[in-house]
Amino acid sequence: MNDKRYDLICFDVDGTLVRHPSNMVIWEVLNLRYGGSREINRLRYQMYCEGKLSYERWVQLDVQTWIDAGATRDEIIDAVREFSLFPGARESVHELGKRGYKLAVISGTLDILLETLFPDHPFDTVFTNRIFFDDDGRLEAWQATRYDSHGKPVALREIAQRNDIPLSRTAYVGDGENDIPLLGVTGCFVAFRPRSRTLAEGADLVIKDDGLHKLLDIFH
Ligand SMILES: [Mg+2]
Repeated sequence: MNDKRYDLICFDVDGTLVRHPSNMVIWEVLNLRYGGSREINRLRYQMYCEGKLSYERWVQLDVQTWIDAGATRDEIIDAVREFSLFPGARESVHELGKRGYKLAVISGTLDILLETLFPDHPFDTVFTNRIFFDDDGRLEAWQATRYDSHGKPVALREIAQRNDIPLSRTAYVGDGENDIPLLGVTGCFVAFRPRSRTLAEGADLVIKDDGLHKLLDIFH
């Protein structure tokens, strides 16, 4: 008998599954590494929020800067190593998989971050931005995700539909402003160490711990 309240749990990545000592996301780290500045990061984010910069164009501006600076796979992996999985992330996610939940990632992070830090992940579906390297390991191309921010609910609907799961039986775990569009869409929003007040107030549950172990109590 299936007595679970949810069938699908989707995760954000930066700030949810992985953390950085300065609370930066991979975009910020790579922009700083390849000649950008905090001011440029802030400005592009603001322009995006005001609708003056499309998501795709934002990704292009950032990644092209790294390409122009000669970024390589080794260097980017080096930067990724500044991040680590949150305590309990690996164990909890694997255990949820064993308990029969469908698991997915809907994130604005880079594919290389998840591949490097959590290569053994059990996610059935992973939606992230993607970057590509040439045969010599030089960064050469990218593919922007359609599923960040306001695209997140679109992705959730798509995954739910594909698995024949009603939205009321989906859950989502996230921390940031780009997760806000999922409030009220998913059946159970778990805000993990929320960086946004809107998220903390709108979430069904809030985890303030320094790890993800509590997910195993929530999704038993
Ligand atoms: Mg996040």
